[in-house]
Amino acid sequence: MAIDRFGRQITYLRISLTDHCNLRCVYCMPEDMTFRPNAEIMQDDEILQFVRLFSKLGFTKIRLTGGEPTVRANLVNLVHEIAHTPGINSLTMTTNGVLLSKLAHLLAKAGLKRVNISLDTLDQEKFRRLTRWGKIEDVWAGIRAAEDAGLTPIKINAVIVKGYNEKDIVDLARLTQKNPWQVRYIEMMPFAGATDFQLNQVVTAEEMKACIEANLGLLEIANGGRLDGEARLYHLPGAQGDIGFISSVTQPFCAACNRARLTADGRLRLCLLREGEVDLLTPLRAGASIDELRQLIVDGIWVKPWGHGLEQGIVPLNRVMSEIGG
Ligand code: SAM
Ligand code: SF4
Repeated sequence: MAIDRFGRQITYLRISLTDHCNLRCVYCMPEDMTFRPNAEIMQDDEILQFVRLFSKLGFTKIRLTGGEPTVRANLVNLVHEIAHTPGINSLTMTTNGVLLSKLAHLLAKAGLKRVNISLDTLDQEKFRRLTRWGKIEDVWAGIRAAEDAGLTPIKINAVIVKGYNEKDIVDLARLTQKNPWQVRYIEMMPFAGATDFQLNQVVTAEEMKACIEANLGLLEIANGGRLDGEARLYHLPGAQGDIGFISSVTQPFCAACNRARLTADGRLRLCLLREGEVDLLTPLRAGASIDELRQLIVDGIWVKPWGHGLEQGIVPLNRVMSEIGG
């Protein structure tokens, strides 16, 4: 079991499969982002060794993320191997959806259970401004393919940024009226690079909720008021889907945190918004035994921070979001 000093049992691992991406979202990375050379990134066999180790420590749930996980070579085989690792009973992915129209069926067949797809606007021009490069029709094709492949319920992640897409909050919420999707609004978080932008242009979950209610009527509490992962859930009266708010900045959910992260270069990241990490890949490559690696993980999890320090002005500067994976 991996337990921290506050008694939280950590059972959920998010693995960043690569820091590379086929988009350049303004809130995530600079346009001229430099990526790590492949040799610095965990290879398939290394990822699988870590997955086996984490599953033996009681981790049951894995989310694959990035960068963009779908740009990783040999992804379908890797998904198959992870999905069939004893002890892993939930394997999901967060993706920008651009390549899903080609991959959704293969991934579902390999054992992937669900996808979260990022979509911040319904407008092509705004989509291009936010992602710098993207074509929105690729994401729609990806969403349709994911539904068709049974990677459901579909969750749509939308980061709302002042001056970019606040006007889309209502249209995104309307998607839940006719589709059994969960549209999740995410407060922008600050990381290295674009920190000023990320701090000054946050739209809070409270503001987003007020905007939806002003336009579409009062939201009803869903899921019995319980968190779904990190999202507080609501729905519009009569809607097929749900609306979630991920208020990591203004109302963090640290008490319920059961997660740890593995960065693309094999560091165990203990809190998304704190810099503390434990290097696992260097010891693995230097020939550390399974027991030694297990001890590094257990000791690291034990000192997992309680929560972030944004209110005290502490911002993680050692990595941008795409290297950690969200
Ligand atoms: N490329 C994939 C995608 O975009 O879904 C997976 C990686 S991305 C880093 C994971 C999630 O983090 C996405 O939903 C993205 O919108 C979100 N994200 C990126 N930068 C963020 C930031 N500064 N604050 C809050 N969420 C952010
Ligand atoms: Fe790429 Fe996802 Fe970051 Fe956008 S949010 S740049 S799609 S990693």
